[in-house]
Amino acid sequence: MKAFLQTKQYIARDTLLCSFSLENSLAFRAGQYFFIEIPNPPFKDERGNRRHFSFVNSPSKSQTVEMATRIGDSAFKKSLAAMEIGRDVEINSVSGTFTLPKDLIQPLCFIAGGIGITPFMSMIKHLNELEFPGNVVLLYSNKTKEGSAFLEELQLLAQEQSSFHLIPTMTEDPAWQGETRLITASLVQELIPDYQDRSFFIAGTPGMVDSVNREVKSLLQDDSRITIEHFPGY
Ligand SMILES: Cc1cc2nc3c(=O)[nH]c(=O)nc-3n(C[C@H](O)[C@H](O)[C@H](O)COP(=O)(O)OP(=O)(O)OC[C@H]3O[C@@H](n4cnc5c(N)ncnc54)[C@H](O)[C@@H]3O)c2cc1C
Repeated sequence: MKAFLQTKQYIARDTLLCSFSLENSLAFRAGQYFFIEIPNPPFKDERGNRRHFSFVNSPSKSQTVEMATRIGDSAFKKSLAAMEIGRDVEINSVSGTFTLPKDLIQPLCFIAGGIGITPFMSMIKHLNELEFPGNVVLLYSNKTKEGSAFLEELQLLAQEQSSFHLIPTMTEDPAWQGETRLITASLVQELIPDYQDRSFFIAGTPGMVDSVNREVKSLLQDDSRITIEHFPGY
């Protein structure tokens, strides 16, 4: 489906948030992803002009697609960064099983590494529209505050919504006053005492996801309560 760039904004270091308007509405579930193609891109390489990204917006905004990405050296990312407002792209092939459980009352723990925050933004916006029927803890790990996308928005939401708890950790930021540890089993045990009651969702780079998955698995008797999403390419 044709879509047009509506806004673009750097929201953290090297991190671009793009919003596209769609010709028709697009059905998706919070946490899913889509494919985007840039026709006739200004930059070209052997990796091509098509990528997949998670929806950042809530499914209730069905004529909009928001995505956020770290701008790197690939031709695709350079073309995206250079895109002018009004430019057309193709958006299609919605897919993914990294989605909220049917029972939204059950307590959840989201664990995001870096740009792995994107599917959680869609989920959190969706849950916020429903006034958080369950209880959500978001453990959000970044190297620095400067590189943490959506941090202020999440901090504000955590102040407003008593059922949403945010625990940011900055692992390489000497100026950060809060948590700085990597996400391990003992950190989860210490900071989320009711972890045994929660379902876990983990998204980020493959290395981060595999490591956190191992740690969380070591804590739970039932690892079917863990759902993961790898973002390759970082
Ligand atoms: C379900 C899902 C959701 C995602 N959501 C997001 C999101 O919301 N935001 C986001 O930023 N990213 C997301 N990604 C990752 C995204 O699709 C891109 O892979 C990532 O952004 C890197 O893109 P790139 O253009 O910089 O790198 P790419 O050029 O796509 O490279 C990706 C990988 O391929 C390797 N590679 C590069 N060139 C070659 C080559 N010639 N031959 C073989 N391998 C090569 C790179 O080393 C790298 O590991 C998601 C991925 C998945 C699977």
